Amino acid sequence: MSLNLKQNDLSHVVAADREHVWHHLSQHKQYETADPRVFVEGRGLKLWDANGKEYLDAVSGGVWTVNVGYGRESIANAVRDQLIKLNYYAGAAGNVPAALFAQKLIEKMPGLARVYYSNSGSEANEKAFKMVRQIAARHHNGKKWKILYRERDYHGTTIGTLASSGQPQRAEQYGPYPDGFIMVPHCLEYRKQWDVEKYGERAADAIEEVIRREGPDTIGAIILEPVTAGGGVITPPEGYWQRVQEICRKHEILIIIDEVVCGLGRTGSWFGYQQYDIKPDIVTMAKGVASGYAAISCTVTTERVFEMFKDAPQDSMSYFRDISTFGGCTAGPVAALENMRIIEDEGLLENTTRMGERTLANLNALMEKHSVIGDVRGKGLFCGAELVADRQSREPADEKLVQAVVADCLGQGVIIGATNRSLNGLNNTLCLSPALVATSNDVDRITDAIDRALTNVFGC
Ligand code: PMP
Repeated sequence: MSLNLKQNDLSHVVAADREHVWHHLSQHKQYETADPRVFVEGRGLKLWDANGKEYLDAVSGGVWTVNVGYGRESIANAVRDQLIKLNYYAGAAGNVPAALFAQKLIEKMPGLARVYYSNSGSEANEKAFKMVRQIAARHHNGKKWKILYRERDYHGTTIGTLASSGQPQRAEQYGPYPDGFIMVPHCLEYRKQWDVEKYGERAADAIEEVIRREGPDTIGAIILEPVTAGGGVITPPEGYWQRVQEICRKHEILIIIDEVVCGLGRTGSWFGYQQYDIKPDIVTMAKGVASGYAAISCTVTTERVFEMFKDAPQDSMSYFRDISTFGGCTAGPVAALENMRIIEDEGLLENTTRMGERTLANLNALMEKHSVIGDVRGKGLFCGAELVADRQSREPADEKLVQAVVADCLGQGVIIGATNRSLNGLNNTLCLSPALVATSNDVDRITDAIDRALTNVFGC
């Protein structure tokens, strides 16, 4: 299928965008000499822009979101029918799709029990932080209020979640930040901080060192991405998660798992934490929950966490004093229900595992050919190739050259990503996260484009 946009001139749309839209993550100076890219339509992994150019999207809508692919009429129909029936009601009352989606979600999350709705990944994480603070206030005499976060992890764009940003440049210029967010080291073995054999255990022990320094009775929770996304597609080293959990249990620290990227199939299981046998207390999710067909996020807790807000019904401060206006939109959970049905009925978890293995195999083959690839990592359809100036010293590749590879792929009609420009010299990992419906042919087209781009940019 292709679009015939020539008959349908959209130059007025591009002009309106150029004049009036403030794009996310963009330096607008560039639009004084070039048009912004405006997308018009999508099907599966394919996208078309306002000039009619076709792309293969290897990043699921730019930021690993559209897990079931573009153009899903069944989701659109389910949302339409629900909006006509009841579009919204917020506050203390529930609604039908919210109840049914919560039930279905919890079936896939043994050990968890309660779903709290909001609209974005940042918001879901803010809710988790507020829960931890309220538990500290009510159950720990105000102690255990600090929250640990990890270098290179990202949890959102609000002031509270930026206080827990492991990517320094994202947080620069927006402070001051609230107190009580403490950074711990990352676990990327390729960028070793300790020269030891059991790297996973060592990286986890580094968290315990921070806990002892701060005082275990001051720390309520730790937030972690199961596989770090924008921070470099970091898969955990062996032994890491087991030790992290032992440490958290020992010091009674709640584990918050940020599944905003990994959630709903991205790694080949329903959730990334399930790949590593993690037993979380709180799980947050957003992007893939409804694949971008509606805005929805969830903060999911164990019954034990939930019960801590029920201890004194007559006390007006005992319940979770939080609301999200658009947490009452029914479009989110109804789209999420249909999104989940598609993942299940089309066998997308299995496809993700198979296609992820193929992507990693292709990237490893490229590493044999291109000395600029220093490391290949990934889980499911969530893969990265870290580029280096020198394999021996592992000196990071120049950011401009990494961006040139992304631009070359774009010129070839393949959209790939690269890690955020907020990692102080380590923003050098190419990121691939196509929709979970990707075929072998799609995967090969994506890695072939990277092959050509590396040759064009690095000449090797
Ligand atoms: N957590 C992670 C791991 C993310 O990657 C993101 C977004 N990139 C967020 C949280 C924040 O999500 P949102 O942009 O929906 O607020």
